[in-house]
Amino acid sequence: MAPLLGSIADDFTGATDLAGVLVKHGMRTVQMIGVPRLPPPASSDAIVVALKTRTVPPRDAVEASLRALRWLRDAGCRQFFFKYCSTFDSNDRGNIGPVAEALMDALETDFTIACPAFPANGRAVFRGYLFVGDVLLHESGMRHHPLTPMTDANLVRVLQRQSTRRVGLVRFESVRGGEAEIRRAFANARSDGVGVAIVDATSDSDLMAIGAACRDLPLLTGGSGVAMGLPVNFRSQGLLARDQPAGRLPRIEGLEAVVSGSCSPATERQVAHMRNFAPAFQIDPLRVASGADVVAEAVDWASGRLGSGPVLVYSTTDPSTVKKVQDELGAERAGALVESTLAAIACRLVDAGVRRLIVAGGETAGAVVGMLRVEGLRIGDEIDPGVPWTVSLGERPLALALKSGNFGTDDFFLKAWSRLP
Ligand code: ADP
Repeated sequence: MAPLLGSIADDFTGATDLAGVLVKHGMRTVQMIGVPRLPPPASSDAIVVALKTRTVPPRDAVEASLRALRWLRDAGCRQFFFKYCSTFDSNDRGNIGPVAEALMDALETDFTIACPAFPANGRAVFRGYLFVGDVLLHESGMRHHPLTPMTDANLVRVLQRQSTRRVGLVRFESVRGGEAEIRRAFANARSDGVGVAIVDATSDSDLMAIGAACRDLPLLTGGSGVAMGLPVNFRSQGLLARDQPAGRLPRIEGLEAVVSGSCSPATERQVAHMRNFAPAFQIDPLRVASGADVVAEAVDWASGRLGSGPVLVYSTTDPSTVKKVQDELGAERAGALVESTLAAIACRLVDAGVRRLIVAGGETAGAVVGMLRVEGLRIGDEIDPGVPWTVSLGERPLALALKSGNFGTDDFFLKAWSRLP
């Protein structure tokens, strides 16, 4: 059967986050990396296309999003979701407004919602104002974001500045009134000429009611939270199996490795923990910069050790060492050198028989899946919040856990193996 829900996410970790929510609520979900070239994978209820469009020029974001939409429509999806960050990361030019409107045009719909609320992560919308924890968006750390500083917490205003259609608000009172009230509020907004409605929500039950009210909308936009209300719609229409183990993955046999390029505090602790239990090889960016063949050194080192349990290859280090390296090489060059070195090592380890791989660091993971030419991931159950096991699509499937820097408990690198299917 064709997939039901087709989503377009404006960045990679946001896509994984959404995929995790859908799996948790019973949809077998595949995440595609970039606009797919492959035909849609079988046995999936939801597909999330991960783009990198959050901060590119609006025209490029629109173009990529429309290509993703075309692919998802061809795959047979019946409803579409545009996923962005729950802190509404954008600026006055876009890209939330322009992409949402382009998708509306393509889907020939005159109404959609914009709901970034994700109460479990402290994001709540009330009277159209976005709260991050206990403070308004513009009082949170987001006001200093290097690319998308958020200086206005009123999402109706924020979205209006980047939209041509009228932006309105579905208020908390309507949301608390439940599905029928929300539908009435949608109808009223529509008759007032509203094209996109910000929707208040401060709890998961609000999100479930909003999801129910959106059953017949061709397009929704929002954070991962509001997607939790969608699977039940498909189930009530008899399109989605009840109680299926949506996160069950095929078992992948093979050797095990961890490649870590994150220098976030949680990863530092995880590396320190694993070093007590497994052979470990540290990458020195200055040696890489001096032209030493660090990739070959790491692979030689690993080749004698791989058969007897997981190995760890890492560049993870403390902030003062990172700073020294950055002062010498420049932050951008240091980052790029380390990323490409770790990605090359990961590829060579896979050539040597590694089939179960954990990668720590968002950018590092992007570099590794890029060099491994991974086009899509079947999403499994979570190891720790926000980090699922996944299995790559294609002829040589790999079990991959791609861990954002600050995620996971200190024993994550060892615990993960015991959570493999
Ligand atoms: P996180 O998810 O923790 O932010 P990322 O992989 O996204 O991790 O980012 C870490 C960045 O730091 C990458 O660009 C990586 O190449 C770089 N890096 C890793 N180790 C070092 C190091 N020892 N010195 C300098 N830069 C490093």
